Amino acid sequence: MMPPHCNLCGARPFPAEPLKTLASRIRVFLPFVTSGPPPTPKTYQDFSLVQFTDYKPLPEGMTGHPDGYLWFCSDHIEQATGLSHCSSTEALRILRRDR
Ligand SMILES: [Zn+2]
Repeated sequence: MMPPHCNLCGARPFPAEPLKTLASRIRVFLPFVTSGPPPTPKTYQDFSLVQFTDYKPLPEGMTGHPDGYLWFCSDHIEQATGLSHCSSTEALRILRRDR
């Protein structure tokens, strides 16, 4: 399972602060990843998974992160959950467009 991080704003749990700093430094090069206001500090409890229509469970005994199953922070979980009737690709497209 992929560690928690918001698939919309890029927020990560609090201990990953250096990554946030790094993300702001590379903003110029990766605007599609880090656009929008900088994420606010969050803890692990602030992240939840949303299952989209393209969700595919991993084969038994396989480790990794299943397709169509994305993390979102507490600021974006409501919007993401509202799009759970879409594929993860379509949901991210709509969420990024509406930011
Ligand atoms: Zn977020």
